[in-house]
Amino acid sequence: MEAKGTVGAQGQVEADRGPAARVRGMGTSVFTEFTELARRTGAVNLGQGVPELDSPAVLLKDVADAVLAGSNQYPPATGFPALREAVAAHQLRRYGLEGEVLITTGATEALASALLALCDPGDEVLAFDPCYDAYPAGARLAGARLVGVPLAVDGDGFALDPDALRAAVTPRTRVLVLNTPHNPTGKVFTAAELAEIADVCREHALTVVTDEVYEHLAYDDARHVPLASLPGMAGRTLTISSAGKTFNVTGWKIGWVCGPAPLVRAVASAKQFLTYASGTPYQEALARMLGSVEEWAAELRKTLSANRDLLSAGLERAGLRPYRAEAGYFLQADVRPWGYGDGTRFCRELPERAGVVAIPTSAFYQSGNAPSWLVRFSFCRRPESVRKAVEQLVAASGRAG
Ligand SMILES: *Cc1c(COP(=O)(O)O)cnc(C)c1O
Repeated sequence: MEAKGTVGAQGQVEADRGPAARVRGMGTSVFTEFTELARRTGAVNLGQGVPELDSPAVLLKDVADAVLAGSNQYPPATGFPALREAVAAHQLRRYGLEGEVLITTGATEALASALLALCDPGDEVLAFDPCYDAYPAGARLAGARLVGVPLAVDGDGFALDPDALRAAVTPRTRVLVLNTPHNPTGKVFTAAELAEIADVCREHALTVVTDEVYEHLAYDDARHVPLASLPGMAGRTLTISSAGKTFNVTGWKIGWVCGPAPLVRAVASAKQFLTYASGTPYQEALARMLGSVEEWAAELRKTLSANRDLLSAGLERAGLRPYRAEAGYFLQADVRPWGYGDGTRFCRELPERAGVVAIPTSAFYQSGNAPSWLVRFSFCRRPESVRKAVEQLVAASGRAG
């Protein structure tokens, strides 16, 4: 998780120097620590965003059938043709977007390949803070540096600070990474915020990489709009998504990147030497599933938004202040009402106090301005698990009082 610039040390050569600078300090992520803590203590794990929910039965059966029918060798490096077509149809049908499609080994490989393809050493990559840990790591692998632009804590939510965004752009800024719906806050960027971001990208000729893995998980009235669909953005935007969060199949690692042909070709150049290609039977089954994603996702949103409501109400009853979550798997809570100024200490003590694991949000900040009292809870678990966690939190708050 610790991923702050030691890129400058790359040039030094020593006889027995250990790992290269680009990976030094990347050792273990915060998820490893807290997943291990959950395992050791038997606590309800609301830390890492691993869904406990079912996948479409027909999708699972299609994978099994594809394996037994012998669909087990390399697909083309750009992806199983039927899946590329299904993704292209999905982008056109839902968002009116056209362009090339490249299938990747999850959104993670798409992000890393995009940053490797777009950044030269010394370049800067902007992302909104807090952010997903693959962005600083990917920038660093490319020899670039991620600059975190803090989102403003605004009432019970998070908001774009346009002045902070403009102030962060330098002559070295090459790429802006935009994640909406957003992990870890559950924010969906509004139309006005997207327009503001698009203005800055056009003004400074920035290339945009979007992470839209929660595109189907916007709740209530929140609506997901890809930045690529704004005026003048399609030609400079790579849109990334994946099957993991949409179908509760995070272990399959099938993702994709869509955009203008020259940009997608550049990503493909890097991607072919990372994995070349992967997951043939999964790609084949997903090609059939993606056409009916809307019906599936409508049900999944019901389950997840009910979980969110359960968790949010429970945190409030336990005396912790929850923030609004409009999408995705996570919500934020302010732990100061329990007397903690430090979310990391809260998370280390929570399994003992309440039998629940959460993740300190400070781990997702690159800019050193982290509100130290924020903690991330996930609600992508079975409703029984969320209910159990809530009961234990409420009980612990009584003991604490
Ligand atoms: C889970 C997640 C990913 C990883 O997607 P994969 O397809 O599993 O690689 C990427 N970005 C965000 C914001 C995520 O939450």
